[in-house]
Amino acid sequence: MIADLHTHTTASDGVLTPRQLIGLAWNIGLKVIAITDHDTVSGLPEGLAAGKECGLEVIPGVELSTEWEDREIHILGYFIDWHHEILRSFLAQMRQDRWKRLSKMVARLRYLGYDISEEEVKEEARGEAVGRPHVADVLVKKGYFPDRKTAFLELLERGRKGYVPRRKVEPGEAVEVILKCGGVPVLAHPGFSRADGLIPHLVNLGLWGIEVYHPSHDQEAVERYLQMARRHNLLITGGSDFHSPQGEYQLGQCRVGPEEVEELRWAHRQIIKRKALTYNLTKDLY
Ligand code: AMP
Ligand code: FE
Ligand code: FE
Ligand code: ZN
Repeated sequence: MIADLHTHTTASDGVLTPRQLIGLAWNIGLKVIAITDHDTVSGLPEGLAAGKECGLEVIPGVELSTEWEDREIHILGYFIDWHHEILRSFLAQMRQDRWKRLSKMVARLRYLGYDISEEEVKEEARGEAVGRPHVADVLVKKGYFPDRKTAFLELLERGRKGYVPRRKVEPGEAVEVILKCGGVPVLAHPGFSRADGLIPHLVNLGLWGIEVYHPSHDQEAVERYLQMARRHNLLITGGSDFHSPQGEYQLGQCRVGPEEVEELRWAHRQIIKRKALTYNLTKDLY
């Protein structure tokens, strides 16, 4: 098992810079790693360069946050053309939305009696996808909670007093954006998101794979998603969802083999080919 296909850096809510992440991946003997930051691709240039330097394959990826039936659904995009204008404007919109939501969230927390400012969260976030994890970290530093997880559990999770939603993005919209940018759309941690009912719908919209191996999936969940992958003819992926060496999940904790990586690459080529085909057809029409 050589590949960890789900990781985060300081570009979103991870604590290692892309270069540090690649260094750690190399140290633990991974051969392939996908960088899949939440709603941003700004960690990719540094990560890809670092990978080249040490001979580790870095797959450019992203993890888009969406919503379905009051649940948080994350869609991974692999081998995505991260320069693509469609992706750029989609992410710019999300970023803007995250900043607006931060103002609301800080106001709400201050009202609830927490001493916290937008400036402090901005400093904590450093990267682009500012969100609840950064708010949680500020609250932990100030001694309100022992750790990030507790801050979520008691204050920031959906249904808690400090929760402020973001603009709703449909999972199908994320799948479409990823496909348009040549990426392979994969449903992230369906067990964690309780998203089984969504899978057939997303398959119709062009989903290519599901993340079968994730630290939140027990053996039974893994079996269930392997079956679903077979039934819907989907690719199988897996990764650790690594955020921090001090966090719950460790880098390389969930891995896949070279076959899964090759299938992902093959899917990417198919998507590109189909795209070229539609482009040519459109050209013929005009
Ligand atoms: P946001 O996109 O700002 O709403 O924050 C969502 C992110 O917060 C997720 O992608 C996770 O990285 C993190 N998160 C969500 N729930 C929890 C939790 N219970 N404990 C720790 N981190 C969480
Ligand atoms: Fe995260
Ligand atoms: Fe996720
Ligand atoms: Zn993730």
